[in-house]
Amino acid sequence: MSIDAHRWLMTAPATPMVRDSFRAKPQAGEVVVEIAGCGVCHTDLGYFYDGVRTNQPLPLALGHEISGRVVEAGEGAQAWLGKSVIVPAVLPCGECDLCKRGLSTICRAQKMPGNDIQGGFATHVVVPARGLCEVDLARLARAGLTLADVSIVADAVTTPYQAVHRAGVRQGSLVVVVGAGGVGGYCVQIAHAVGGRVVAIDVDDAKLDMIGRHGGELTLNAKKLDGKALKAAIGDFARRTGLPATEWFIFECSGTAAGQATAFGLLVHGATLSVVGFTMDKVEVRLSNLMAFDARALGNWGCPPEHYPAALDLVLSGKVAVKPFVEERRLDDINDVFHAVHHREIRKRAVLVPG
Ligand SMILES: [Zn+2]
Ligand SMILES: [Zn+2]
Repeated sequence: MSIDAHRWLMTAPATPMVRDSFRAKPQAGEVVVEIAGCGVCHTDLGYFYDGVRTNQPLPLALGHEISGRVVEAGEGAQAWLGKSVIVPAVLPCGECDLCKRGLSTICRAQKMPGNDIQGGFATHVVVPARGLCEVDLARLARAGLTLADVSIVADAVTTPYQAVHRAGVRQGSLVVVVGAGGVGGYCVQIAHAVGGRVVAIDVDDAKLDMIGRHGGELTLNAKKLDGKALKAAIGDFARRTGLPATEWFIFECSGTAAGQATAFGLLVHGATLSVVGFTMDKVEVRLSNLMAFDARALGNWGCPPEHYPAALDLVLSGKVAVKPFVEERRLDDINDVFHAVHHREIRKRAVLVPG
């Protein structure tokens, strides 16, 4: 048996995506997920507008923030049939030496929907079953959320979850998040949920207002303050609140050169700089500041599937709010939605919903 499905294929950069009918058929170890929602990520815009190459050549359906229900399962994956799931944005193979050593985020056989394999801007997607995160529908309903709402856990929540976890944020840590929309907004909420005291920096007052109500204790607009003034304001906040003047945790989530320069400029002794956002642009920095401050810089790629249940739990328990930050749109309006997100006419995270 196979299922009639359609997806929207990117055929060339900045060229309207085209509707493509296909037959979804799982191989051994794979499942077909009937998609409830798929979030539109900054990374998708990077592929579509900025010339970032996908690993699988075009035509390709983009989309890596997928939730849905397993409607068909290949050999060895039948246990997933009928379950509601979040598909991790990066699916490691689970078998290689790197995976076995707990380094699954750098697994060379990993599969990312909408990059390595067909993605979630579709009615259905075929993905490996290994690593799927089951969603408890009763708990979801109690939290006032839909399965489409939590699609964004696949990346926008779990990527900063992994970054916060890896950096070692703990109770009483001073955390600075540069770029407070999308991924950065969840970074603020997650750092706050684990006990961090969070300063949010953005260039958009509306975003700062919003995140000021969701875990951002101090909000600063980088359009109004230069690097020096930002650092002074955070130092002041630290003194007022009894937080340390050293060992700040800085998360660059804007994915812009200006944000990266700002984040690097906030280094203090023993600081941890986590690069979470992506841009093709370059910045000029004095890298030796890492040496002089005895600081460290960390990259972050995805999140191991084993952390998904804990990240989802933050959402289902209400410690991380999702609803105010997502906006559902029809999948078949994808070209209009991309245009609107690109031109900042949709300010929340757009989630494309089939049907
Ligand atoms: Zn993404
Ligand atoms: Zn692997």
